[in-house]
Amino acid sequence: MRRQSPRSRGYAQRVPPAPQDVLAVALEAYVSIDSDGRVVAWNPAAEATFGYSETQALGQHIEELIIPERFHTAHRQGIQRAVAGEPGRVLGRRLELSARHRDGHELPVEMTLTVTHGPAGPLFHAFAHDVTVAHRARRFAAVEAAVARGLAHAAGSGQAAEHVVEALGATMDWPVVELWLLDGDRQVLSCAARWETREVDDFVVNELPVGVGLPGMVCRDVRPRWISDLAVDGCSPRSPAAARYGLHVAVGVPISSGEQVLGALAVYGDRAEDPEDSFVSLLTGIAAHLGQYLERRRAEELTVELAQTKDDFLALVSHELLNPLAVITGTTALFNEDLGTLSIEQQRDYLQTITGSAQRLAAMAGDLLDLSRLESGQPAVHPTAAANLTEVIAQAVDVATMSAADKHLTITVDVDDPIELVADAGRLLQVADNLLSNAVKYTPEGGTITVTAHTDEPWITWTVADTGIGIPAAERPRLFRRFYRASTALDRRIPGTGLGLVITRAIIERHHGTITLTDHAGPGTTFAVEL
Ligand code: ADP
Repeated sequence: MRRQSPRSRGYAQRVPPAPQDVLAVALEAYVSIDSDGRVVAWNPAAEATFGYSETQALGQHIEELIIPERFHTAHRQGIQRAVAGEPGRVLGRRLELSARHRDGHELPVEMTLTVTHGPAGPLFHAFAHDVTVAHRARRFAAVEAAVARGLAHAAGSGQAAEHVVEALGATMDWPVVELWLLDGDRQVLSCAARWETREVDDFVVNELPVGVGLPGMVCRDVRPRWISDLAVDGCSPRSPAAARYGLHVAVGVPISSGEQVLGALAVYGDRAEDPEDSFVSLLTGIAAHLGQYLERRRAEELTVELAQTKDDFLALVSHELLNPLAVITGTTALFNEDLGTLSIEQQRDYLQTITGSAQRLAAMAGDLLDLSRLESGQPAVHPTAAANLTEVIAQAVDVATMSAADKHLTITVDVDDPIELVADAGRLLQVADNLLSNAVKYTPEGGTITVTAHTDEPWITWTVADTGIGIPAAERPRLFRRFYRASTALDRRIPGTGLGLVITRAIIERHHGTITLTDHAGPGTTFAVEL
């Protein structure tokens, strides 16, 4: 068989495409300049990459178009070297450079530069493509590695926080990075570490209530927040100061461990280089890493905390545990001695005293066990879709009405009907009982208790207010600590264990809600639950 040459198969008849047609459809940006640096060719991919159309670019000096100012001198010297025929550092190599887009932002590009020599002198030809995505992946990997290293070498939570803000600030070039942690009572955030590369004095605060400022809002809502222009942001009291220091963009993400929010990570900068979703997911990943670290530390720190609550616990044992025990043993001894002479009525009185004290002890043991179940993360809360808060409140009010009537207290209820939510109705009833029984217990004769609950989709706000003995403002941050009892209750020798509110808060948090002690006009106390 005779072999056919390509020519004889008809290739010779095909007309090869003109180079400019190839450049018109190329995915690589093609830019050509003469020895003065003026643009002589600019293809559509160059238009897409740098933002200037061919008409806008042709004849313009390349420095004015796409070369960042800090590279102008080096660029000019490079061209001069090439024109003089000196071996250059850039010709014929694959380079990674920063280019400037028409809108002002810089983008990393991979580029090859070659030269041809024509009658009018040398022409330089650059093929380039945007490597922002690859660049970002490298930067993100670097910051993740820096965070992992920082956590591995941290001697404690404080140092871990320092290392994380430094890793983010230094690797990602954010001028201000802050790490905020919720304190024990979960009402206030404290700044655990701050990275700053410029003077931002008026912007600096070290404490923020939950719900206030970017970190406070992120913790309250348990979701990331992106503020693209702090100058027009009305949500944060620090925004005007931030804008004065040239910080325009702010991004915050919550730091969580399991279902609990521990704090927030926030960065502030002149501009965001990365798209919102990819940057937020980087921060979320770092926050998750940190959350796990803090959780491990927390287990260690719990041992220390236990020692701190020891005194409160001893007080509980000496009063709340020993008192009923003494009553039981004393009454039993008397009962035994006088058994022969006691009437049935007196015997019943003795037995009632013994049963009452035994019940107090059983309730306390129950509370302690319940708290340990709730805090250990066991599924002690079983939400169902069918819970109706209105019914729960009505049930609790029914129970409280009798003891309230004994003290001539008025209970007023202002509650939407129905208030349906996905919740464990039994546990909500426990919350309602705790808040109402406290209101009854800590309100002297003749006072008023007010219960309100309203829905404002997606939130439910539920308050229990009383006109009772109140809680001194200075003691409020400690109120949700185990065994803590306010001085107002201790001074009046009102019995209690300091466990009810801790259990209440644990239940509400397992429902992703919050409980706070709100400011109160006049004497008394108001608890507000947000679900
Ligand atoms: P207990 O009432 O058994 O001591 P709690 O955990 O329910 O335990 O409450 C903790 C403390 O908070 C109480 O000891 C009391 O000092 C204070 N407290 C709670 N509710 C009220 C209230 N409605 N008014 C005044 N003080 C309250």
